[in-house]
Amino acid sequence: MRTLLVTGGAGFIGGNFVLRSLARDPALRVVNLDLLTYAGNLDTLKPLQCDERHIFVHGDIGDAELVRGLLADYSPDALVNFAAESHVDRSIDGPAEFVQTNVVGTLNLLQCSLDWWKEQTEAQRERFRFLHVSTDEVYGSLGATGAFTETTPYAPNSPYAASKASSDHMVRAFHHTYGLPTQTTNCSNNYGPFQFPEKLIPLIFLNALEFRPLPVYGDGLQVRDWLYVHDHVDAINTILERGVPGEVYNIGGSSERTNLQVVQEICDALDQRHPDTARGPRRNLVEHVKDRPGHDRRYAIDCSKLNHELGWQPAVSFESGLARTIDWYLENSEWTRRVQDGSYQGERLGLTGAD
Ligand code: NAD
Repeated sequence: MRTLLVTGGAGFIGGNFVLRSLARDPALRVVNLDLLTYAGNLDTLKPLQCDERHIFVHGDIGDAELVRGLLADYSPDALVNFAAESHVDRSIDGPAEFVQTNVVGTLNLLQCSLDWWKEQTEAQRERFRFLHVSTDEVYGSLGATGAFTETTPYAPNSPYAASKASSDHMVRAFHHTYGLPTQTTNCSNNYGPFQFPEKLIPLIFLNALEFRPLPVYGDGLQVRDWLYVHDHVDAINTILERGVPGEVYNIGGSSERTNLQVVQEICDALDQRHPDTARGPRRNLVEHVKDRPGHDRRYAIDCSKLNHELGWQPAVSFESGLARTIDWYLENSEWTRRVQDGSYQGERLGLTGAD
């Protein structure tokens, strides 16, 4: 049996990773370490309640004793690090927490992994991977053309991006200095089931469903490259299976859209499913609000390395992924209600420091 130590596996991408990977591989065991912050939710993992191959551990990636114990007890074949503070707006209001989890926490995982790895047999050392999940936001902002490659210089603009960039550098250093078999993935914007409703797509969906105003930052012409979360999960599994230690892989959906286009597509899809001629069309609910301070204009990912070297490419188009996502949220309103029972009620975040 293969064992993965996954961090942040009660969050959006980590949760999808754990569910999909266990469903696909009967010979897989997942040890899932998650602090259950506002963004982590055990409801996401409910289908695994009776599955002995899933071992949930409530704890902090920054807790050295805990992480050392998990490595010793379970001897994982790989550690996959999803755990992070992940919302740009929150990083504007409070950057310190982002440094603590994203930088100091990742450093702790690296140090504990290295100390454990050095004591393993040669075969186990050869097999082990430390896969660090990162973002395209580390590369900064693009003009109207071009795309980020794995050699694009880092130029993070938000505290979130800066914290992820720092952790990426530390991962790189642990490979180059100590030989730890690390891999880093830099991925574009994800969407799909189980995404916490502070992020654009679920937030707009929930507001549009109830005919509430749809806040669009600035002119809404910021471009993002959208990737369906299952494609991200499959890319990570491909890299774990066939990727080269020490390498960086960009992951993207080749689906560029402006934020405004995304909002309009959600409105149209909801109008189709739940027409309301008295109050519709939902596009009329768009309200342009103050832009995010330092908002990056455009991200686009060149993921040809992953395609050419490992044969991965996105399988889900934006149209079909968005339709699946909307249907999922419509069918899982209980999940949404329960994750929103915490402190976040849909209010605007991330204006600290703005004029
Ligand atoms: P998320 O906020 O939905 O989930 C983060 C998870 O990490 C939560 O379950 C939370 O409880 C857990 N966590 C936070 N601090 C922790 C700590 N100290 N110890 C243990 N667990 C902790 O995030 P997400 O959107 O699923 O993103 C996962 C990873 O992917 C992040 O590293 C993020 O930077 C990266 N990423 C996200 C996107 C995206 O579009 N969402 C795109 C590219 C990369």
